[in-house]
Amino acid sequence: MARIIDGKALAAGIREQIKTEAAVLPRQPGLAVILAGEDPASQLYVRNKVKDCEECGFFSRRFDLSADASEEVLLGILNKLNADSRIDGILVQLPIPKQMDEKRIIETISPEKDVDAFHPLNVGRMVRGDSPVWPCTPAGISEMLKAYHIPVDGKICVMVGRSNIVGKPMGLRLLRDHGTVIYCHRHTPDLQAMTRQADILIVAAGCKGLIRGSMVKEGAAVIDVAMNRDPETGKFTGDVVFDEVEPKASFITPVPGGVGPMTRAMLMKNTLTLAKLHMGLLEK
Ligand code: ADP
Repeated sequence: MARIIDGKALAAGIREQIKTEAAVLPRQPGLAVILAGEDPASQLYVRNKVKDCEECGFFSRRFDLSADASEEVLLGILNKLNADSRIDGILVQLPIPKQMDEKRIIETISPEKDVDAFHPLNVGRMVRGDSPVWPCTPAGISEMLKAYHIPVDGKICVMVGRSNIVGKPMGLRLLRDHGTVIYCHRHTPDLQAMTRQADILIVAAGCKGLIRGSMVKEGAAVIDVAMNRDPETGKFTGDVVFDEVEPKASFITPVPGGVGPMTRAMLMKNTLTLAKLHMGLLEK
């Protein structure tokens, strides 16, 4: 029987802590969120991010661009925000409309305000292991492991998925924390042979039912990042077959209520960290 990791409760505690820390700063931490297009899921995410800012006592600015807005308009906004002393973090909600060049957008955000840590300079810092902020999902998972006293040092960590947003930086984080990391992806010939070795198994493939009970080692900690929406019921499920894996695992995250809320809380934590850096309250 696994211990269920309560991401929702953990995230609520982190938000409280952030609010307390923010309240004593010389000025409010500031986050700018930019949404281009009318995707309903993205609109919901952006609404929640602005709401979280209010709850944490942060200053926030939201920019809404139409789906056919030009790249120049977005670059213009980013350049203004880069120079705006009230803004510590800048986030462009992905995916962006196809007429815009994602790499160019990401590289225009000042690396010191890059709250998602997507800028190549920060990716380089992550490879080196000393980035001040990490992408929100890996950062949230790392906090979860710490909070539940799940050691990474000396453990075999298997990362299923190698996206730039989740899988790749998660593996780098585990490596920084002295884990032995195996990346799996669509080209991995025998996924099960890899996952069965994992002391810590993190799954971010977006592939419902991918991880069966037989693929997990007895006593493993299993972290399910995926949010697969059932088009009929509208309900979310992960990549892990929970009922099969839970009896074998030592720890497991539920979907929803596991990684999702932690990802959300880490955006606030990253904004706070950048604000403190900008105020000279943290060492670089
Ligand atoms: P996310 O943003 O959650 O990381 P992406 O869709 O960007 O999700 O990436 C999915 C990742 O999962 C890719 O690296 C892909 O290779 C991996 N993946 C998808 N399906 C499988 C599968 N059946 N087996 C192993 N890896 C998979």
